[in-house]
Amino acid sequence: MTFRKAERLQKLPPYLFAEIDRLKAELIAKGVDVINLGVGDPDLPTPPHIIEALAKAAGNPVNHQYPSYSGMNDFRVSVAGWYGRRFGVRLDPVSEVLTLIGSKEGLAHLPLAFINPGDLALVPSPAYPVYNIATMFAGGESYFLPLLKKNRFLPDLDAIPEDVARRAKVLFINYPNNPTGAVAGRDFFERVVQFAKQYDIIVCHDAAYTEMSFDGYRPMSFLEVPEAMEVGVEFHSLSKTYNMTGWRLGFLTGNSEIVSGLGQIKSNIDSGAFNAVQWAGIAALEGDQASVAEMQKIYTERRDILIAGLKAVGLAPDCPQATFYVWCPTPSGLSSKEFTSLLLREAGIVTTPGSGFGDPGEGYVRMALTVPAPRIQEAVERIRKLSF
Ligand SMILES: *Cc1c(COP(=O)(O)O)cnc(C)c1O
Repeated sequence: MTFRKAERLQKLPPYLFAEIDRLKAELIAKGVDVINLGVGDPDLPTPPHIIEALAKAAGNPVNHQYPSYSGMNDFRVSVAGWYGRRFGVRLDPVSEVLTLIGSKEGLAHLPLAFINPGDLALVPSPAYPVYNIATMFAGGESYFLPLLKKNRFLPDLDAIPEDVARRAKVLFINYPNNPTGAVAGRDFFERVVQFAKQYDIIVCHDAAYTEMSFDGYRPMSFLEVPEAMEVGVEFHSLSKTYNMTGWRLGFLTGNSEIVSGLGQIKSNIDSGAFNAVQWAGIAALEGDQASVAEMQKIYTERRDILIAGLKAVGLAPDCPQATFYVWCPTPSGLSSKEFTSLLLREAGIVTTPGSGFGDPGEGYVRMALTVPAPRIQEAVERIRKLSF
């Protein structure tokens, strides 16, 4: 028998890491000591007080039944409290907060609530692939907004043609940004609100990295900007802030109509996040934040080693103020894939080709700071011995 897959699967771009995974496996099989700067998954453990909260809640039979669709009330209250303390943003925990099974889950489902076949979504490029693919799964089309160095990796909203802006239903943005490591300030978010109001566009801000910042820099929430609540929502995650990628816990905040739209989709697809995990989330948001400061310190040290090492060989990456990504321009004459391949074959270092995140990412590779400092140092020494 042959089963023809749905068009939405046939339309999928090739899996970003497929070729790299294959090469990496080949090198490891040969006994090469591979340094993996490829995936954005923290190597640090979840802080112990969060694990204890999970263990305790997992033992309580009350938590063994179906959770509430929109998330445990206590968790949503906790999120609203955290938004108040961290950003000065007031949220109604009932209508303006929704628990997600990781923010990827929410991002992937949101277009089902607001995109009809033929509708446009404005999607940055390079970007986290979910925005584009979720739009396509909903039958919509992406109009890509290039993120270029000359614009500090912010989309140029003025360059969007009038007819495109009119057709657009959703705008995705993500700051601090994966993969470029760029940050956005108040001016940009204010311009986004103005643009969204002018064209009746839903703003989806992916804010997964607001707590992963360095040198005292504190990224802001999109919802801090006046009238942002009228046009948009923010996707947040426990994954990066508390090293909880495997736990699958995130949340959506902001405009109640948009929140309830995604809630309606979700209530027909999943049955909520495990309550014990939400209790752990409460412990994370309300507990001692020393682990967050510690995490920032660790990534700062790693970042500084890598940036100094890359500069010493003539590469010129910007030093990121946030995220655990270094967006490194390739040596002249090498494409993203060529440089990625050189680093892997000649130095045993896994990186991600910038072009895999979208065409405007060509000419860059993304390096994730997800290995200990001595391994970053080792990577730097191996790169120093390369000739390019
Ligand atoms: C890691 C990451 C997330 C978080 O995903 P979760 O599903 O919450 O683990 C969201 N957006 C971007 C851009 C990311 O890099």
